[in-house]
Amino acid sequence: MQKNTMVACPTCSKKTPWTTENKDRPFCSARCKLIDLGEWASESYSIPQQDSEEDEVFSEDLTANPNRSFL
Ligand SMILES: [Zn+2]
Repeated sequence: MQKNTMVACPTCSKKTPWTTENKDRPFCSARCKLIDLGEWASESYSIPQQDSEEDEVFSEDLTANPNRSFL
């Protein structure tokens, strides 16, 4: 297994390591993942600004929006 595979974040193009530890891959951060999802999911969807609450917000979203089950 390669441990140093680098991918470009789809949102900001920043190089980020593709590892099992990087739960947000191919994004560089949970923030970028939220931004990218928000662009197609809903134009009126407001991006949460609290890093510590992102996981909680996603859980609520998954419950309310079965179409996001790919997450
Ligand atoms: Zn990024």
